[in-house]
Parts: sequence; C-alpha cells; structure tokens
Amino acid sequence: MNSSPLQAPRTKVKVTAIPGDGIGPEVMRATQTVLAAAGAQVEWEDALAGAEAFRRGIAAGATRETLDSIARNGVALKGPLETPVGFGDKSANVTLRKTFEMYGNIRPVRELPGIRTPFSGRGIDFVVVRENVEDVYAGIEHMQTPGVAQCLKIITEVGCERIVRLAAAVAEAEGRKKVTVATKANIMKLTEGMLKRAAEQVMPEFPHLQHEHMIVDNCAHQMVIRPEQFDVAVMTNMNGDILSDLAAGLVGGLGVAPSANLGDEAAMFEAVHGSAPQIAGKGVANPTALLLSSLMMLRHIGDFATARRIEHALYVTLEEGKDLTGDIARDGEGAPTAAYVDRIIANLDRESTLVPEREYRPIGMKRWPQITWYRAASTRELVGVDVFVESERDPRAISITLQAAAEHSAFDLTMISSRGAQVWPDIGGHTFLVDHFRARFMFKKAPNGNGVAEITDLLQRIGRQHNWMHLEKLQRFDGADAYSKA
Ligand code: NAP
Repeated sequence: MNSSPLQAPRTKVKVTAIPGDGIGPEVMRATQTVLAAAGAQVEWEDALAGAEAFRRGIAAGATRETLDSIARNGVALKGPLETPVGFGDKSANVTLRKTFEMYGNIRPVRELPGIRTPFSGRGIDFVVVRENVEDVYAGIEHMQTPGVAQCLKIITEVGCERIVRLAAAVAEAEGRKKVTVATKANIMKLTEGMLKRAAEQVMPEFPHLQHEHMIVDNCAHQMVIRPEQFDVAVMTNMNGDILSDLAAGLVGGLGVAPSANLGDEAAMFEAVHGSAPQIAGKGVANPTALLLSSLMMLRHIGDFATARRIEHALYVTLEEGKDLTGDIARDGEGAPTAAYVDRIIANLDRESTLVPEREYRPIGMKRWPQITWYRAASTRELVGVDVFVESERDPRAISITLQAAAEHSAFDLTMISSRGAQVWPDIGGHTFLVDHFRARFMFKKAPNGNGVAEITDLLQRIGRQHNWMHLEKLQRFDGADAYSKA
C-alpha cells in the first residue's frame, strides 16, 4: 500500500504561494489547479519575491509581507526566482532560506515513467539531503592580496548533527534502509571530517538504518555507475549542491526535479529549475517539478491521501504519454501546459502500478533550542599562530626576515607554506609560488595569560617588514591539535 494510516488535516492549511518569475506564475497556476481538483486541504496566501521585489528597490528580494506570511504559515510553495544581474545584491532564494534557517535541502531522485534517460529501467529511487546554510555558502570571502582570494568554509558540529538527524528522519519517514554520508574527510579532516564524525556519533541511535561513509568524489562516480545502490545520501552544502544536480540529471533533469527546504520554523517547497525566461508567457512550461514539490508539501502538512492521489494521476499521465509538454513529449508532440494539467486532472481517480510502494510518514524533525550553541572543552591551550603575509620574495628570504622579527619574542618560526604546501624549511618540492605565504609561529613556552600581548608584539614586529593580512590562532582542544598540518 502506498498510503498512510494518518488522517488528512480536517481544516484547510494556509500556505504562502510565491509564484515567482518567468514561467513561475504558469507552473504555480497549473499546480494550484491540480491540487484544487484533487481536494487538497490548502488555502493559498499569495506573496511576492524575486524580480518585482528587486524592481521595487527591496535589496533582499522578498517583501516584508512575504517574510511575515511565511513566518505566520510556516509553509510556502515557491516558483523560481530570477537572481538579478547588475542590480540588487542578493539572491531572493538565499534570503528566504537563510531568514528561516531552512537548514535541510531535500531532493528526491526517482525515475519517472515516460521520461527516457540513459538510466531508464534501473529503478533509481533515492533522496539527497544537503546541508543548506553552512559551508562555503556562508559567503565569507576576502581578497587577501590583489591576486589571492579566500572563501571560508564554515562547518559546525551542531550543523552536522542537525543534517545527519534530518537524513535519518527522512529515511524513517519514507521507510528507507540506508544512509550514505558522503564527505571529503580524507582531505578536509576538520570541516568535512566533522560531518563524518557526527554521523558516526548519531547513526548508532538508528540501528535499523544501515550507515556507510563514502568519499564524495567516489560518490559522484558511484551515482553514475550504480545509482540504484543509494537510498538516502547526506552531504555538506556545496557537495550536496553539485551531487543533487548530477542526481537530477540521471532521472530526467532539473525540469522534473522537486525539492524541499526544511527548518524548525518554516518549510519551503520549490522546483529545482529556474525561471526559464525563453519560454515564459508562452503557456508551454512543464509544471511537473513544482507539482512534485507540492506533493512533498502535502505530506509535510499531513495530507498524505491527496498527495498519493495526485502522484498516481501524474504517473498514469506520464506513462500514457498523452498531452505532455514539449520538453518531455515525443518529438513534435508537445502540448500546452493547460492540456497537460487537464489530462492529470482527468486521471485523478486512476492508479499506476509504477508508483513505488512506500508508506510515507511525517518527517520526525528534532526541534533545536533557540540559544547560542556553545561547546565546552575540558582543556584549551594556545600553542601558536599562523600569520598570513604578502610577499614577492622567495621563501628563504622571507624566513630570514621573519626569524629576525621573532628573535627575542615569545615565538619561534617553525614553517612557511604556500597554499598549504611547505616551502620552508625546504623539503625539495616544486611549489609554484604566489605572493601569499602562511608563516607558522609556535610559542616557545605556554603564555601566562591569554597570549594577546605576545601576539600583538609579534604582529608589530612582522608588520615592520611585511604586509600581513590574516591571523589564525593555533589551539588545542581537549588535548588534540585543532589545526591542520602543512
Ligand atoms: P532555467 O530557468 O532552469 O532554464 C534552463 C532551460 O531549462 C530553459 O531554457 C528550458 O529549456 C528548460 N526548462 C527549465 N524549466 C523548465 C520547465 N519547467 N518546463 C520546460 N522547460 C524548462 O535555468 P537558467 O536559464 O540558468 O536560469 C534562469 C533564471 O532562473 C536565472 O535568473 C536564475 O538565477 C534563476 N534560477 C532560479 C532558481 C530558483 O528560484 N530556485 C533556480 C535556478 C535558476 P529550453 O530553453 O530548451 O526550453
């Protein structure tokens, strides 16, 4: 049985509807028409975000009324939003996800009938769970020299725990068996490794779920070679961004890929595709991705029965291949959006044998306390500093000036690296040098206080000879080095 024992909500649930830009209003109208015909327990509250908001001078891309509506309703269905090029400075999508801390991006990847791909018939059916707010997408970037840029990859222990718990909850909600944690922990042991370690701590709480770790580049390879092995795959933000699009490509592309953005306070459901301006207003856009996203939304509000009914009607329609939109129809047979919608509605009481057997339940998300999260350590030691300096000299010359700067200070210069590779003391490598060096200074003996006076003294000494632009403390927490080696 692909139904849930749970009852649909008795009264209508208010949902914020953001039609968005380009084909957004067309696919939103199409989706709302199907949901209304199927008797979904939804009452829409229209809201504005995207190009029109930017035109009105709202730099965040979403009006106050829109943010208030989502805050009130806690659920939104969203069409694609244009990211302005040349005016406004933000993405409205990012504004919405970040304002409501929608930390989990859920991307189902499932073979659809009638959508032919090189992978058809393989039974692909998995979910990518992508961390949605941390990582390099925190957007903290600096030019350190005129020719060297830096982007901070911020990964938090609690952020990792949240996303692993969400992946496990998604697996449980959909009766899935396995959670694959894909990371680059072999290289980024502290950041990517944090997700791996969080999974190793959390997953034993779910003994009925199989848990495995996969290096993320191999995960990309495995998704193409043997995609049917995946059930739920969880990743940090950028890896998840890339691999969820790769996965969408396996089953028909972004045009039929749905998604959900989940947080404690709000959930937003949206198609993965953009506003497709080339076909906007022509009445030919394919609403399947937003319709599939709306089924995730119906399950989120507990209307499992209507979600099931529409899913079957959609599968029957795709299977029979009549009145499909041009992007998925046989060559030259594309129908208008309205005809596709009518066909789905006409099929509302039909059942497809191709919908996977699955008993959906609500996703049991843990609620996280609204406090500043703090992780204590039983011991902390300050053992040194990495100072990043700009110089056009060679490493040996730099080492002479930096050693001279450190003379009679609290520090010894122990190493200089260029983009992570040690260049002094010379280990015989062939590193291409740029004007950006990290100099590692270790305390000769543990500082008496917090070390600030000693660090300030060192920076003043270095500053007489070099332009330094960045400093990182080298610390040990609970007796373990909290920094990477060169
Ligand atoms: P896109 O809008 O997804 O369009 C790329 C192409 O995909 C379209 O030209 C069209 O191909 C096809 N397509 C996409 N959705 C379709 C649908 N529902 N039905 C039929 N065909 C569809 O990607 P883009 O051109 O890179 O981005 C356009 C704008 O959308 C940009 O401003 C971008 O920032 C924004 N965007 C927003 C979101 C979001 O809101 N979540 C996501 C991605 C992009 P043909 O031309 O072959 O018909």
